[in-house]
Amino acid sequence: MSCSVCLLPFTPAFLSLRPRPPPQGILDSQQYMYFQHAIGLGARIEGIVSPFEYLDDNEFLNASPSASKAALCVWESDGGTEFMCHTACAKILRHALCLEGDDPETHAEIAGLEKIIGRPMGGTKAGKLPNLRYQDLGIPKVDVTSYWITEDRPGVNTFRWKAFKDDGFEWMFNRPDIFPKLEDVSEKRKRSIGEPMQPTSDIITTQPLDIIQILLPYLSTPAYMALTSTCRILRKYALCEFQPEARRRVLELGWAVPLRSEYENNADSQFMASVRVEESSVDSDWLLYLCHVHKTAAMRMRRRVWELSQAIARVYHTWK
Ligand SMILES: [Zn+2]
Repeated sequence: MSCSVCLLPFTPAFLSLRPRPPPQGILDSQQYMYFQHAIGLGARIEGIVSPFEYLDDNEFLNASPSASKAALCVWESDGGTEFMCHTACAKILRHALCLEGDDPETHAEIAGLEKIIGRPMGGTKAGKLPNLRYQDLGIPKVDVTSYWITEDRPGVNTFRWKAFKDDGFEWMFNRPDIFPKLEDVSEKRKRSIGEPMQPTSDIITTQPLDIIQILLPYLSTPAYMALTSTCRILRKYALCEFQPEARRRVLELGWAVPLRSEYENNADSQFMASVRVEESSVDSDWLLYLCHVHKTAAMRMRRRVWELSQAIARVYHTWK
């Protein structure tokens, strides 16, 4: 039973009567718990946008406090499935669709979502949205469908967890809303540069600082990182004067900072990057943050979910 954004499975919750959990050692306990939860979207979902727990055996349990008693949801029926997404996947998708609000107008649009982008399909394509070539999307491209085995009964398809992990895709088990910390530039990092050699005679470091700053936006990020690693003067600039440039590069990525709802609902938000200057100073260590968002498995997964969500949004906005 797969998320209609990332196509990864859910894990059976405690109340499941016929659970088929992944083999031991595939997920840690935090990952297992994360994959238990879903957000259902659409007109057939009680509440239009509701939290669910996965029960396996083609069923989800509506976990909304306002749901009617034992509100079970059959996932696959009549040749299609319900639109279920992992919690973070649903947030990123709703952001891409510009449908993040919980007001009646936004919910009315979400109720009509399937009329525009189509109902997720059933059978061998269970959970996948029509009109979307998943295997060609996301960075990097991963053909998740090939790890699903369709069974005789609807909605009880099986994911080949171990094969997926063994093929090097373990990084995709990381939830895509675990962000690197954004902190002030540490004294240790400043000290690590050492004292710049003086005087210099090369063509770059002898330029006035404002001239160098004008040139920076013309560099790709790899070129920027390479240039600012070449000597102590430029390393010092990158750690101090150029932090707003690193911040600009982070924000340009889109996926690399929390959404408003992710920022506001997080107990550790004081260590999270924010697009708002009053929440995250432009002089914080954005350079280190820029490095980390390109290195951690969670951010790699986030970038992939972001790309998939943008593709779904393109279909939605084209046909709306
Ligand atoms: Zn997902």
